[in-house]
Amino acid sequence: MSGGYTGKTLIIDLNNHATSVEETDMNGARDFIGAKGLGAKILFDRLPKGTDPLSPENLLMFTTGPLTGTSTQTSGRGTVVTKSPQTGLYLDSHFGGIFAAEMKKAGWDFIIFKARSNTPVYIVINDDSVEFKDASEIWGKECLETHNWLQQIEGRVRTALIGPAGENLVKFSAITIDGHRHAGRGGPGAVMGSKNLKAIAINGSNKVPLHDPDGFRKVSKEVLKQIKENDFVPIRKKYGTPYWVKTVNDEGLIPTRNYQEGYFEHADEINAEAMQKRIVDRGGACYNCVIACWNRSSIKSGPHKGISLVGPEYETLALMGSNLGMNSVEDVAYLNERCNELGMDTISLGGVLGFAIEAYRKGVITSKELGGNDIGWGKAEKLARLIDDIAHRKGKIGDILAEGVRIASEKLGKDSKDYAVHVKGLEIPGYDPRGTFGMGLAYATSDRGGCHQRAWTVKAELNDPELDRFSFEKKAGIVKDVQDERAAFFSLVLCDFAPISEENCVDMWNLTSGFDHTVESYLLAGERIWNLIRLFNLREGLDSADDKLPTRFFKDSFTKGPAKGIVLPEEDFKQSLLEYYSLRGWNAKGIPTQKKLKELGLVKYAKAI
Ligand code: SF4
Repeated sequence: MSGGYTGKTLIIDLNNHATSVEETDMNGARDFIGAKGLGAKILFDRLPKGTDPLSPENLLMFTTGPLTGTSTQTSGRGTVVTKSPQTGLYLDSHFGGIFAAEMKKAGWDFIIFKARSNTPVYIVINDDSVEFKDASEIWGKECLETHNWLQQIEGRVRTALIGPAGENLVKFSAITIDGHRHAGRGGPGAVMGSKNLKAIAINGSNKVPLHDPDGFRKVSKEVLKQIKENDFVPIRKKYGTPYWVKTVNDEGLIPTRNYQEGYFEHADEINAEAMQKRIVDRGGACYNCVIACWNRSSIKSGPHKGISLVGPEYETLALMGSNLGMNSVEDVAYLNERCNELGMDTISLGGVLGFAIEAYRKGVITSKELGGNDIGWGKAEKLARLIDDIAHRKGKIGDILAEGVRIASEKLGKDSKDYAVHVKGLEIPGYDPRGTFGMGLAYATSDRGGCHQRAWTVKAELNDPELDRFSFEKKAGIVKDVQDERAAFFSLVLCDFAPISEENCVDMWNLTSGFDHTVESYLLAGERIWNLIRLFNLREGLDSADDKLPTRFFKDSFTKGPAKGIVLPEEDFKQSLLEYYSLRGWNAKGIPTQKKLKELGLVKYAKAI
């Protein structure tokens, strides 16, 4: 073992303000790769069953993979691994920027926070040096303000921090990275807030060790060439993720007014062209990335003139745009900026706001309960006020909505569960499965709840003539294979948007680490990781009845667009789920069989469930 990993894990005990160093589990690295996979193993091994995610006992881990911080493309990625306060299940939340590369250069594969500080603190890490500092001056500050304060006080540092939402334990609060990127999904910001940890500032001065630097450089060069030659990269560079607004809307699956429709009549006002014309100033990139898909934007006119941000991304344009009936890209940018600065996940917040508007229109939430705030589709100012209420848990409704749509619908009652759109407590992203059925199975079986990144079937379903997008046929195999491949990829860890072949991934992993993996053993590691996380979730109380979809997708159909009149056929969905279990080597209750666990070397983990 001679590279890729630093071999060191930093443990930070927030209660005693003490640190210790452990050797990174290199046997585990061979089988679980890093970032997501090895993070999941550590969480399984160390977190007692049934731990309350917001208790001091939960672990908050920043994890890197063997390719993080190397010279290959998109190698600035890192992961936060913890138990989610939103789902009560396993969570990994990935992020870009530079922080993760800096962490590796500081000498750390993983940083594990345990316990809770008695008072708000921030942590400053300079290579081996770790300092605990009083955060009382920044507690309550918004995200960019905190990032800028840290630059002033600590010099040029990379940062991971929370805003007021994380401090107030909003269940879908994010961790903001380097001021502009986010570990957004599943509420890692609330876990950080529960530990009284406002921020981490880091500086690294080492190089990531490589087993075979010349060989690595050669493959990295090939990867760069393939990225530059890829047909889709120029589009991603020019428009970023907003490119998808037009396609997804034209195909009739963009969430619209809390998933009541899949086609938004004002999509032209919030798509990539509208952004380019009206708000985008220039691009930008994470560490070591030629794709450079960011949009640095600012609002040029109207009441919010001067507000600037990186974004909005596709998911925000869908969930805080069409899903809220917003017909101006400036208004989406405004809400996006508020969400970012208060420190929440835009997908979940968009889902929560859409749910709240529908509940309000149906009389389940009253004007009095909202303090007279007359929220509605397209009403940016009213929604900005509600966003502030949620981030600060102000008033009865702000406090209830801060729990996410699952708990909010349980508390509000009156059939509001019928339009609470989530899977396992995590709000659903910007692809309505009534337009591509495979996404329904992908959401239902995702390891962290309603997530699109574990198996994004949309492109294949819309383009492959062999696939019928309005059918579950052939979807189980696709979802399973993509989940396994992504689990491996997210453990290396590189960017989802980078077109990098499995062969090049394995070569780079071997050349950094000295391992001798093949494509088969790399994909088997992905399957092992997926199964370990399934065991973790089963241990925490998940069962097959939780692998379900929101009622709305089975009962309510759209009145316009290409998916007009379609609902998911419930029996076909159930059959597809059983087919998926069977392909995975799981029994009909969604539990991995002994045979499968033996094949993956996971038998000992099954004893815990
Ligand atoms: S493709 Fe975009 S999100 Fe991915 S690493 Fe590059 S700049 Fe960051």
